Amino acid sequence: MQYKHSHEIFFKKYINLGLYIFMARAMKSITVEEVMSRNPRIVSGELTVEEGAKILKDLGISTLIIEEEGKPVGIVTDRDFVTKIIAEGLPPSTKLRDIMSTPIIMIPHKENLEDAAKIMTRRKIRKLPVIKDDKIVGILSENDIARISPDLIALAQEYANIHQENSEKEKMEEYIAGKCEVCGQFSLRLTLYNGMLVCPECLDSMR
Ligand SMILES: [Zn+2]
Repeated sequence: MQYKHSHEIFFKKYINLGLYIFMARAMKSITVEEVMSRNPRIVSGELTVEEGAKILKDLGISTLIIEEEGKPVGIVTDRDFVTKIIAEGLPPSTKLRDIMSTPIIMIPHKENLEDAAKIMTRRKIRKLPVIKDDKIVGILSENDIARISPDLIALAQEYANIHQENSEKEKMEEYIAGKCEVCGQFSLRLTLYNGMLVCPECLDSMR
């Protein structure tokens, strides 16, 4: 749509903001658990990208959780095959560990879709693993949210831009899982501190 006058853009922006607040309220009543896909595939980082691609194709899924010593340390999505493997010309024998994204940003199963949309928007991720009793029980994708509310992600982005200062202070209920960059131990609750991802114990000793 073309706008002739700047006030039209102004009104569009605030109509969208109103629409977002309205939709966000509705999305607050739906938990991620109700919408996520279940039975996430958890595999070893030792698998090659060729093996990983075959699993995705055979199961008709788009996300692999990568574990080491029984702990989830990374995530590989179908997009990674395009953006990392093909774009960088990596061989099919490349290990999944070498292309995985780490740490994993996760959301507790009882959180609502609005918070999920906010985390995805701010973290710029399309897949959000869902955690329950310290186990990954599902994956919420941007498409899962779009099925329920097609514009929520786009409007969450617009809303975040308008409310940038506020949104940074707002506390999000998210888990950041991976290896502590100080002690090397796995933690579900890493925090970014002085440019490093640290576990709660190391964070205590650094402060
Ligand atoms: Zn640590």
